[in-house]
Amino acid sequence: MKMTKSIIAFMLVVLLLVGCAAPATQTPAAQEPVGDSTASNAPAEEKTDASTAEEAYTSLDDFVLFDAEGVLTKTGRDAKGTTGVVSSGKYEASKIGKEIMEKGGNAVDAAVAVGFALGLAEPNSSGLGGGGFMTLRTEDGQTFFIDFRERAPMAATPDMWQSYTDADGKSHVIGDQNKEGGKSVGIPGNVAGLLYALDNYGTMSRAEILTPIIELAKKGVTVTPTLSNDMKNNYDKLLLYSESGDIFLKEIDGIKYPYEIGENFKNPEYAKALELIMDQGTDVFYKGEMAEAIVASVNKYGGLFTMEDMANYQVEVVEPVKGTYRGYEIVSSPTPSSGGTIVLEILNILENFDLPSMADNSAEELHLFSEAFKLAYADRGQYMGDPKFVEVPLKGLMSKKYAKKLADKIDLKVSTENVLPDDPWMFEHEDTTHYSVADNKGNIVAVTQTVNYIFGSKVAVPGYGFVMNDEMADFVTQPDHPNSIAGGKTPLSSMTPTIVLKDGKPFAVLGTPGGTTIISTVAQIISNLVDHDMGMQEAIDAPRIKGYNKNTITLETRISADVIAELEAMGHVVKPSEEWNRSFGSVNAVKYLEDGTLDGGADPRRDGKALGY
Ligand code: GLU
Repeated sequence: MKMTKSIIAFMLVVLLLVGCAAPATQTPAAQEPVGDSTASNAPAEEKTDASTAEEAYTSLDDFVLFDAEGVLTKTGRDAKGTTGVVSSGKYEASKIGKEIMEKGGNAVDAAVAVGFALGLAEPNSSGLGGGGFMTLRTEDGQTFFIDFRERAPMAATPDMWQSYTDADGKSHVIGDQNKEGGKSVGIPGNVAGLLYALDNYGTMSRAEILTPIIELAKKGVTVTPTLSNDMKNNYDKLLLYSESGDIFLKEIDGIKYPYEIGENFKNPEYAKALELIMDQGTDVFYKGEMAEAIVASVNKYGGLFTMEDMANYQVEVVEPVKGTYRGYEIVSSPTPSSGGTIVLEILNILENFDLPSMADNSAEELHLFSEAFKLAYADRGQYMGDPKFVEVPLKGLMSKKYAKKLADKIDLKVSTENVLPDDPWMFEHEDTTHYSVADNKGNIVAVTQTVNYIFGSKVAVPGYGFVMNDEMADFVTQPDHPNSIAGGKTPLSSMTPTIVLKDGKPFAVLGTPGGTTIISTVAQIISNLVDHDMGMQEAIDAPRIKGYNKNTITLETRISADVIAELEAMGHVVKPSEEWNRSFGSVNAVKYLEDGTLDGGADPRRDGKALGY
């Protein structure tokens, strides 16, 4: 990219206005902690010295992510390439991935670098203390699924959290024990998973991959509006779990503050952690000094970790789930994710209707999406768990005949009201991250990785610059459910890193965060590409609805009032949100155009940026 003078001038203005400048020049967005009352105790910003040239360093180069008000820009997220494209949740991570490919690395090398870079630039969403899934296609056409999700520590039991049972016999955790503190933490898989991918499918050394990230951790990344808001909204928790505050808050005269938009966030401890991993590989994390620090940190806050749990962590490599949608092959996440299975169930239901002849986001199309979501999400809640521990009717859930039976239940004019309730907490996710890498040889990598909720369990590992996940919250509390807790079991996920092929050739790679709405978002994006022939950015930008197991359509308000009125007339309860809403996911994806161009798109609902060459 060429940096124009006007863009440089604009970035300097932005940095002076919202960055390290004196408080008098800060925008209201930068002064006010946003969101819930947990931020209410944040101290008022104190006067600091004006920016020096060193402080004005921005790792965003000429990419304008936010305006002077701290509002995310909605354009400029896409990029085309003829050789390779990387699309991730952070500019800095996409840039590191692209540079790895330019140096001769393949898509896996780039993806592994992006994965570790996000632990620095987007520590609120994923990192060394988390886990994830990789769906991979190699240039010879083979597909693999690498499961590096967290596992329950062996001492975990269904009654380890205090809970109560309601009148319907449903069990509820008291307080936030499943979402923060030591008992919310699963054994992390990110380091094992990314290094497994590098060793088995990459071409570069750990040093080649990690050195640029170590340098960036010392130099610092730009605090985006998304990250700054998460730091402010979690300010009290970051103080409470003080090891987290030491990493993710800045200190001025002995007082901790959240970082402001545009400021520079350095993480030298993360650089140290990566140096150890670079020199010693997975052993230092699972058996060595980092394992000891992880066990001590988690157990300090009531956790149940042992060194054996860490040493026994295993990456699983399994067959992805495979199915078709109108002749396109879908390659996606198998259990322990519900994602690929339920996306296929939804697409199989939709295949019974002529969506290509309907206008995108018309009432008739949204009605069908909503009905398909209700049917498939009901099955998800009823049947899905870790198949190593419970029987799951996977073939049935993905069968075209079963989908036809479900499709026959759909009334084209009337919304189904009578659906079983599900867990509304599962829809509240604004965390997690997805990245996609594709090259012109047909190497494709889709990774969704997470620490679960924002800043995970809030328990950080001092000295190493990262926070531990709270993935145990993805289990259900009652003991008799397919997704109940057991030692060594993997909690059910919705993460859906997906590759789409046409006639055996690459067509698209995609995925998103968003809790259980990952599934409905992935289904809508595939429909936008296949049914409505959209470009990648267009498919990402298009307004979305959320998938629920209830008679409600939550939608982005760029969907017209006429369509909303038609949906209401069919009996849908419509809940408008905002024009662009962060909780509707963050799709970072690449489409292969017919002339061979790689068409990268990234989601303006968060900080995503595609880069190609
Ligand atoms: N814990 C979630 C899952 O695995 C992470 C996904 C998300 O929150 O976006 O489904």
